[in-house]
Amino acid sequence: MRVGDLRLDIVADAHFRLDGGAMFGVVPKVLWERKFPADDKNRIGLATNCLLVRGEGFTALVECGLGAKWDDRGRELYAIASSPTLGASLAALGVKAEEIDALVLSHLHFDHAGGATRLENGRAVPAFPNATLYVQSEELAHARAPHERDRASYDAANWEPYAAAGRLEGLDGEVEVRPGLRVVPLPGHNAGMQAVRIDSGAQTAFYFADALPTSAHVPLPWMMGYDLYPVELLENKRRLLAEAVRERWLCVFEHDPDVPWGVIVDEPDGKRRVHVVPVLQEHFD
Ligand SMILES: [Zn+2]
Repeated sequence: MRVGDLRLDIVADAHFRLDGGAMFGVVPKVLWERKFPADDKNRIGLATNCLLVRGEGFTALVECGLGAKWDDRGRELYAIASSPTLGASLAALGVKAEEIDALVLSHLHFDHAGGATRLENGRAVPAFPNATLYVQSEELAHARAPHERDRASYDAANWEPYAAAGRLEGLDGEVEVRPGLRVVPLPGHNAGMQAVRIDSGAQTAFYFADALPTSAHVPLPWMMGYDLYPVELLENKRRLLAEAVRERWLCVFEHDPDVPWGVIVDEPDGKRRVHVVPVLQEHFD
């Protein structure tokens, strides 16, 4: 997919499963299970749709999925599939891990940061050895001292190897980390989460991360039970979705197994719908 002068590709890491109730918060199961059927443990299937952004002189990766450092217990708990893998998804586009120069993480929860490192002789090392990892300073500080509510979502092995290599950059607020690729603080899911806004030509793509994890989360009250600040998230969604509809943004849904990206449209019947954008695999030339 082209956005102005930039090329965007969805690169998926493994699918996994989380509790359906936790994924839809106060929304009754009779409503969400029409869209996401639950398994015998009440879990629903989720994707990890990462985004590769290529432009003049840079190759940036937004998010990196669950990674491969899991033991059997973790794999079973989250029903982590063995494929796809981020490495294979990048290889299908002819991109090597060494070519990534920017790794932009919305926040440091394990399903977003897990793939940042890999095990080498039992030790976690950067999976993208030439990349600088960008995250909000506020999120980094929190990840290093989490509280009981979200401690299980953080594993220092996912980011500290970048800090040790001098490749971890904490950001404060909105920053253009590469030409046309800008991080935008988007609190609500937690305090330090950032979204990614891509502008080139007259087009905009927006990576909502956990503010809009699936296309089913477009209605304002459809939010996750995991969200720490739901009312703040609601107001941020209201503001950003109005802009997304008005300017026809290409919206990425990180955890949606069927709709990785789409355009959100207010229809004449008053309903807000997501128009699916097919994933095009055309060559970049
Ligand atoms: Zn997530």
